Amino acid sequence: MQSWYFCLLNRNFVTPELAEVLQETATAVDTAYPGTVTLVLDANFPFLAGFPLLPHLSHSDGRKADIAFYYSDASGYRPKAVRSPIGYFAFEQGVSECPAAWLSLRWDLQALQVLWRDLEVDADRTRHLLRVLAADGRVRKVFLEPHLQSRFGVSSGKLRFQGCRAARHDDHIHLQL
Ligand SMILES: [Zn+2]
Repeated sequence: MQSWYFCLLNRNFVTPELAEVLQETATAVDTAYPGTVTLVLDANFPFLAGFPLLPHLSHSDGRKADIAFYYSDASGYRPKAVRSPIGYFAFEQGVSECPAAWLSLRWDLQALQVLWRDLEVDADRTRHLLRVLAADGRVRKVFLEPHLQSRFGVSSGKLRFQGCRAARHDDHIHLQL
């Protein structure tokens, strides 16, 4: 888990199958890029009154989890580094599929963006993670914004855009069994 916060809120519960998928995926990326640490963000369903503090409405059955991007700085890969304190909301810039006026659940949190650590998504590790997930027969869907699918050069029938009326997926990767 990326933060004690998710454990404190009991957000770290998954089915045994998803636990296996997450562990094996982390091992696969570490095998390809030794020393890589895969961070799970939220697994189960949080909903705090009035504000979608964490970007999901669908984590309710233990079969869905979010994984943080891997990050690098000028000195290279930074194990366990994420840009915001809880791993979410540090959005990658890119062309959105959604019209600006669209009634949506997207939020930009623009004022926060300057606070985040200055790190780049590590494209090699993140691409490898996406390929491992896409090749895993237990994984049914992976959500990632289309502009990041093109940036990382990955395509798969399992890689989906979550739509404009759902949380953004350019700050983390969502997977479900
Ligand atoms: Zn999610």
